[in-house]
Amino acid sequence: MRFALFTQGCPHGCPGCHNPETWDEHGGMLTDTEEIIRVLRSTHYLDGITISGGEPLLQPFAVLEIAEEAQALGLSVWMYTGYTFEQIREGYAGIGALQLLQEVDVLVDGRFIASRAYGSITDGTPVWCGSSNQRLIDVRQSLIAGHVVLWRELGMKLA
Ligand code: SF4
Repeated sequence: MRFALFTQGCPHGCPGCHNPETWDEHGGMLTDTEEIIRVLRSTHYLDGITISGGEPLLQPFAVLEIAEEAQALGLSVWMYTGYTFEQIREGYAGIGALQLLQEVDVLVDGRFIASRAYGSITDGTPVWCGSSNQRLIDVRQSLIAGHVVLWRELGMKLA
């Protein structure tokens, strides 16, 4: 059972995006990190938090605050981003994104590519991502190794 956080604003503009209402940086609902943390603390039976969007790395310091609190509460932290792990490591998404990466357990990276989209799932295996270019990355192991270490191989067939 996970707490889902959708951040507003996305610069990637992937054709076929399932969440285009999150693209506008001036859209969504303005709230404070303290309020989100209050709700997070008072929600029971959670295994973790999943941060999506939109592009969470557009507001890395706010997300960092929430991710740090989630880690302190013993929750696993997953994050979806249109940037690749390598782009974040190289500073392409900014210094805040690099800091935030330290607090993420599993990163699902890369833009959604419609021509590589997963179709209907044939064997019931959840893939946790939208297109086959995206990876489920074990961030801690990847940071230690200095290269991408997958959290789980995606062996399922496309429909
Ligand atoms: S990165 Fe995600 S939210 Fe942004 S346009 Fe692509 S699919 Fe949509």
